[in-house]
This record gives sequence, structure tokens and C-alpha cells, in this order.
Amino acid sequence: MTRRTFLERVKAERTVWVDGELVQDVTHHPAFEGTIKTIDKLLQKQYVESTKELLTYHTEGVRAHLSFLIPENKVDLKRKRVAYQHWADDTFGVMSRLSEYTRSIITGWYANRDVLDKKRPGFAEKIAHYYRKSLENDWLSTVAGHDPQRDRATKQTHDALLHITDRNEDGIFVSGAKMIATAAPYVDEILINSYHKRTEKERAYAHVFFVPVTAKGLNIVCRESFASQDKTNHPLSSRYDEMDAVLIFDHVFIPWERVLACEDPEFSWVLRIEPCSALLSQHQTVARLVSKLESVAAIANELAEASGATAFLHVKQKLAEVIMQKESIYALLNASEHESTMYEGVCLPDKDYLATARNLGTKYYPRSLEIIQQVGAGGLLQTPSKIEELFGPIAHLLKEPYKGTKMSAEERTKLIKLAWDLIGNSLGSRHELYERFYSGDPVRTFAGQYHSYQDKKSLVDFAYQAIRREE
Ligand SMILES: Cc1cc2nc3c(=O)[nH]c(=O)nc-3n(C[C@H](O)[C@H](O)[C@H](O)COP(=O)(O)OP(=O)(O)OC[C@H]3O[C@@H](n4cnc5c(N)ncnc54)[C@H](O)[C@@H]3O)c2cc1C
Repeated sequence: MTRRTFLERVKAERTVWVDGELVQDVTHHPAFEGTIKTIDKLLQKQYVESTKELLTYHTEGVRAHLSFLIPENKVDLKRKRVAYQHWADDTFGVMSRLSEYTRSIITGWYANRDVLDKKRPGFAEKIAHYYRKSLENDWLSTVAGHDPQRDRATKQTHDALLHITDRNEDGIFVSGAKMIATAAPYVDEILINSYHKRTEKERAYAHVFFVPVTAKGLNIVCRESFASQDKTNHPLSSRYDEMDAVLIFDHVFIPWERVLACEDPEFSWVLRIEPCSALLSQHQTVARLVSKLESVAAIANELAEASGATAFLHVKQKLAEVIMQKESIYALLNASEHESTMYEGVCLPDKDYLATARNLGTKYYPRSLEIIQQVGAGGLLQTPSKIEELFGPIAHLLKEPYKGTKMSAEERTKLIKLAWDLIGNSLGSRHELYERFYSGDPVRTFAGQYHSYQDKKSLVDFAYQAIRREE
């Protein structure tokens, strides 16, 4: 079987808007060029002898990325995690939509298709077909599950929300908006779902379907680009700016074979909380978070080393904190695999450990950025505007003041530029927002963890035993 390459596919016509202009070719647009090159390099690793086994597995005549593997035991789970971490480590953990997340949802639904088919006959056939197509074509995908922020409190019904405008025996036509679809401009496919439980009043907006980014009438409206063309001075934003977009559907046709739930609040919610898809996708997000926290810990440590601040007790305490963050999430990831359980023949990581890791992540990341600011202080701005100035007309005057304790002026300036890309500039701010919210509104995800904690009964029993103890 010959697959079309990512670069061939991404050139296909799509309606992407940036700065009010329709992008002709995303591969040659400054907002996407660097990121697309990065993704292409990561995908190529699937074919290179030294990394092929690490990233892919053999299934029915094709090699597929391990995000498609249905884990049957702990070894499979670990194998999947190692594949996720390889790409995440390669990109400092700042790329979160390399498709493994959405692929894990698809894989989970496929793995549990017989159970789901009993609730909505025909589901199994649809998901089996889509899963196989995704896997065989190595489709890249993202997900958009939220309505635009029009009115969160009263949940008004209006035409800005994604709704059906027409239907026939072949499929449905939809109009309205969905957000946020990170990576939408350059993936192949988008999963549209309902992140929150729909009420009966919201029936008209309760859909789950797959749409190709090339669909006629699908407008992908991008935020301002944070991508830089300058790799030397902006090591992260020149390579890894994952674009966030709002999707505006204008009478887009979706064939029935791609529609999993249509004006169906009950089944939309069944799919949203289905254990295989939920836990396999969360497993990926926690693996990626470990890489990001490790990058932050490394940068914080090097910044403090470079200025000699590691000599101070409170700086050591702060550096220990970022190390503890990374170690805690890593330990939770390991624990989730170690205490995995079998569900319908699928080996699933433990839900409480994953939820703990994800919820802690929303607190850890902003705190880790605060620590970088505290240990880096004014040194974060102790750089010439461009590294090249260290070799310019006043180079001889700059070499000493810009040096680190054990670093040349050039090395230290590179380190500070890296740190600034992570915490200081637009990309850095976007990442802080991302880590706070990507897995949902933390107010509700914390409450969700409380509600789903099954051991609550043993906590209650323990408390009652303690207060009733007579001796
Ligand atoms: C950088 C970035 C990338 C993202 N990428 C994706 C993506 O690729 N795919 C995707 O599907 N989503 C994505 N998201 C969206 C993300 O999942 C949501 O931002 C998150 O779930 C919060 O929802 P919201 O932004 O609609 O905020 P809202 O739900 O509108 O919340 C806004 C504020 O109101 C409060 N609030 C609102 N409703 C309630 C309520 N019922 N009870 C209590 N408090 C409430 C919240 O606590 C919060 O303080 C991304 C978000 C960011 C920031």
C-alpha cells in the first residue's frame, strides 16, 4: 500500500484564515512553515530503522503509529507511552497535538465498539471503518469539543452553535462554530464532539462526527501567529507554534458513515466518558506533560547555574520544587500503568492516578514558570536583542558581561532565549493558558475527580470507625 505523505496531504486545499487572508498553501505560510517541518521530521522517524520499532507496530499488513495499538497488557501500555515520550522529548513537551490524543480516543471507541454498538446499532461498523482508514493513511487529527463562549450561564440556544441545517439519506449539513481546534490548519481530520454533558434543551447541539479539514464550507479561523522565522533567537516559536483555531461551519456536508451521534445528548455523553477512549487519551497527555516539566526543570536549573544562584538555599528549594513536580507526575504515570486493569479485553491505566496527574498539572505548570522568573530574575533580559550581536562591532565589550559562571556569552544568551520562548513571549503565555485549560476547566475537573473517586466510601468508613472507637 502506498500512503500519501504528510507533506503531500497538507498541501490539499483547505480554507484557513490568518490575519483576514485566505492562506493559499499552509506549507509556505510563515505561521505554519516551521511547525509543519517539525511534524514532518517527527513522522519521518516512523520509517527510520533506529526509531521505527519505538514508534510503530505491525498490524494486518501495515505499520502504524503505536497510538493506534489496543493495549492488551502492561507491556503494551508502556510501549505506547515510550512512543509518546519520544516525540514529546524531541519537542520539549510543547507540542501537544501530534495526533496521539485524538487517535487514542478513536482507538478506545474502536476497542469497545461491541458494547457501544448495543447502545446505537451501526456504531461498530462506522468506527471500525474510520479507525482502519486513520491507521492505514496515518491521518493526523485533532478534536474540537466546545461551543464558542457566547453565554455560559444561561446556555441559550442560537445559530452560532453547531447545528444541523439540513439532512438527507446520505448525511447531514451543519453550520455554526466549535472551538478550540489546536493544529486544525495542518491536520487531516477533526473530531467534533461535545465536551460537556448536553441537556435536553441542547439536543440540537449534541453531535459527534469526523470532518476532513478539506470539507467544503469549513472555515478554519486562526488566532494571531506566534511563529518566528528566526531559529537562532526563537528556538521554540520558530519550530513548535501549534496554531489554535475556531472552526466556522457554513453548511458543511457530513456523510452518515462519519456521524456517530446526531442530536443525541445521551450517546454523545456515553462516547465522551467511555472508559477506553478517556483513559487511553489521558495516558498520552500525562506522558507529554512529563516531558514538558522536565524541560522546565532543566531550564530553571541551568539558568540558576549560569548566574551562580544555586549557591542560595531558597533557590535550591525552588529548583527542588520543579524537580519534584516532574518526579511526581512521572511517578503517577508509572503508577497508572502498574495498577492498570482489564476492561473489555483492554488494559487501561488507573483513572485516579491519571486524574491526579492532570489536575496537579494545571497547578504545577504556572508555578514552574513563576519559579523560572524567580530564579532567572533580571537575567532573563540580560541578552542582546539578537545572538548575532555577540559577534558584531562591540562584541569585545559584550563577551564578559553576558557570560555565565561556566558558560560563554553565546551559550548563556542561547539559554536565556530558550527560557524566554518558554515563559516570556506570546508562545510562552499561550503555553501557560494551555496547561491551565487543555484538559478542561480545572474548577470542574477537580470537582469531577472528587465525584468519581470510588474510594470515598472507604474514607467515610474509616472516619466512622475512628469516631465510634470506644477504647
Ligand atoms: C491553548 C488552548 C488550546 C486548546 N486546544 C483545544 C483543542 O485542541 N480541542 C478542544 O476541544 N479544546 C481545546 N481547548 C479548550 C479547552 O478545553 C477549554 O478552554 C477548557 O475546557 C475550558 O473551557 P472554556 O475555555 O470554554 O472556558 P469556560 O467553560 O467558558 O470557562 C470560563 C470561566 O467560567 C467558569 N465557568 C464556566 N462555566 C462554568 C460552570 N458551569 N460552572 C462553574 N464555572 C464555570 C470557568 O471556571 C472559567 O473560570 C484549548 C484551550 C486552550 C487555552
